[in-house]
Amino acid sequence: MEIALEGALMPQEKLLLIPGPTPVHPRIIHSLSLPTVSHVSPVFVEETTKALANLKKIVYNRSGEGFIVSGAGTLSMEMALLNIASPQEIVLVVSQGYFGRRMADIAQSFSIPCDVLESEGGDAVPTDALKNKLSEKRYAVVYCTHVDTATGTCAPVREYAAAVRESGALFVVDGVCATGGIEENMDGWGIDVVLTAAQKCFGVPPGLAVSVFSEKAMGKRRDLGAISAYYADILRWLPIMKDPSKYFSTPCVNEIRAFYEGTNIILEEGLENRFIRHRKTAAALRSALQTLGFSFFTKDEFLADTLSVVLYPDGIDDLSFRGAYMNNGVVVAGGLGPLAGKAFRMGHMGNLSQNQAEFAVSALETTLDTLNHPFEPRAGVKAFRETIKAE
Ligand SMILES: *Cc1c(COP(=O)(O)O)cnc(C)c1O
Repeated sequence: MEIALEGALMPQEKLLLIPGPTPVHPRIIHSLSLPTVSHVSPVFVEETTKALANLKKIVYNRSGEGFIVSGAGTLSMEMALLNIASPQEIVLVVSQGYFGRRMADIAQSFSIPCDVLESEGGDAVPTDALKNKLSEKRYAVVYCTHVDTATGTCAPVREYAAAVRESGALFVVDGVCATGGIEENMDGWGIDVVLTAAQKCFGVPPGLAVSVFSEKAMGKRRDLGAISAYYADILRWLPIMKDPSKYFSTPCVNEIRAFYEGTNIILEEGLENRFIRHRKTAAALRSALQTLGFSFFTKDEFLADTLSVVLYPDGIDDLSFRGAYMNNGVVVAGGLGPLAGKAFRMGHMGNLSQNQAEFAVSALETTLDTLNHPFEPRAGVKAFRETIKAE
């Protein structure tokens, strides 16, 4: 089913192509404008219950439990650690950079022993290297970042899942920059936790820590008994997720309503269609960028459908470029760490329409023109359209 994703820009609104938050669809904006209801009212119960059911569909999970809690992706990371791993065990983090290291930091903060298997920037850890590591030690849980927002690397999650399942460890995927834009098939692939947040591929404003725990992960939580968490303890939230009219801590009712609408939009578009759209948009944008002289930091085989780390050609200054691009209506993010000044990061995920993506290319040409950087006029837009047609 085709759904209209065109959100006309409001006055002074810029097209937000950073790696989250992402452009918010008018239907979601509208849902945020509705009156705040009681957090124990029937309408809130209905919206939360349906949002949880939608969420489980989006990650292909039937028998697990979903959690929607005020916070953001980092709280989901903490929840996915504290609820299934203890200081008496050892966990493994498979890292492509920034957010893998954050997972290891969180483990360290709670004195949970942690090994890190990290790839070079722009590369992902090969599945064989993961298998080797798993044969060395008995790990209780393996964490991986699906798409690392700093390096633009998309990990081969499905292959990892098979390797981890064989080892007997639980497998957790940080889907903050992927869930709802790239497939994460919990039941089909054997993922025990998908942790994510509202503001990236769901296209909902920031404010929610979102996760789904498999039956096996829930079993592990119960086996652990007391844990070093209170707000982040999923067993305190479970009764509320089962019956949202109960109270634990006041939920952000408007934001959950917006998230519910965000999940409706995803399921109306259809998961398959949505994954294909992300792939096509990414390919078309990259083809346009390449035609205009840009290149990519990430290795070809690990390029992500949700964001690109774009290297500047000679003669373009990072700050002048991003400033001019913003004046032309598009906001992109700077490179992180060693890529600062050398690259910009462009998100292309969530409810970004094809027209909006094409606008980003034409605004890019205008920007190159403003900066007096040589390029073939219209070549970017032409490459974008041809790739969309061909894909
Ligand atoms: C953005 C991001 C996070 C952190 O999410 P916050 O909502 O900023 O706390 C974690 N992991 C990945 C992969 C991300 O892209």
